[in-house]
Amino acid sequence: MISVSDDKHVFSLSAEAVPAARMRVGQTVRLETADCFAGQIRAPGEAPAAVDWARINPATGPVFVEGAAPGDVLSVLVERIEVAPQGVMAVSPEFGVLCERIPATVFEIVPIDGGLARLPGGFEVPVRPMIGVIGVAPAGAPVACGSPGSHGGNMDTWLIAEGAVVYLPVAAPGALLVAGDLHAVMGDGEICGTGVEVAGSVTLRVDVRRDLEFVNPVVETSELVATIASAETLDEAADLATRDMADLVIQRLGLSVATATMLMSAAGQLQVSQVVDPLKTARFCLPKRIIARLGRDLV
Ligand code: CA
Ligand code: ZN
Repeated sequence: MISVSDDKHVFSLSAEAVPAARMRVGQTVRLETADCFAGQIRAPGEAPAAVDWARINPATGPVFVEGAAPGDVLSVLVERIEVAPQGVMAVSPEFGVLCERIPATVFEIVPIDGGLARLPGGFEVPVRPMIGVIGVAPAGAPVACGSPGSHGGNMDTWLIAEGAVVYLPVAAPGALLVAGDLHAVMGDGEICGTGVEVAGSVTLRVDVRRDLEFVNPVVETSELVATIASAETLDEAADLATRDMADLVIQRLGLSVATATMLMSAAGQLQVSQVVDPLKTARFCLPKRIIARLGRDLV
């Protein structure tokens, strides 16, 4: 297996980036990842002034995937996510939905043990490890790892967990895959601007699909398929995710617009992934069980 350590990281995704490693389609890669603060917060009471905000949201890579070309869709199976025994959360007047109520930046260390994240206040939250940032080089100008988009990036979508497949439209030769920003657990919205941010590693099996035409990322779990879209407003992101799912249902299942729309309205779930990155990310989920009778796959 190919392995990439967390010192090989980028702060933006770019078609010009020098690959940290190369792999072939069908291979598996293990990426060690720093947390979104690049490991700068290690102990309780650490001074926020000590944080270099130019060094946040590192993503490990990029990995050049031999044979992946613009127009392909990279299919990335999340085989394994391992997280460190200590995470960190932050609230700040600079970010998050409730920023106006926060007088100063506060970091809290969040111990993780026995499958629980131990939050301030004595609250125990069952962990649900996920990947915050996973993406490929974008088509145009470089995009900071802290931003989501059609290339993936900081989607902060908790569905991107062990067993999920992330489909990413390839825009540059070799795709240039990166991942980072693991969360031990995060709720929909990520309202304070952080989940339980944690270092760790991800093991990814990478394949290429040439029978799919995606403009935006798609995630598949054992239960559902979700289209993922990011935009300036949640309204726009929600519309985009819904339209992407309609395209998928109409093209892949051969349904009429009317039938597809009714199916999505009755059985689909339009959900919020995150509202803080600073683009907003929405997703449209359709359960696989409901379309099983057609004998055709959405992806
Ligand atoms: Ca994130
Ligand atoms: Zn994060």
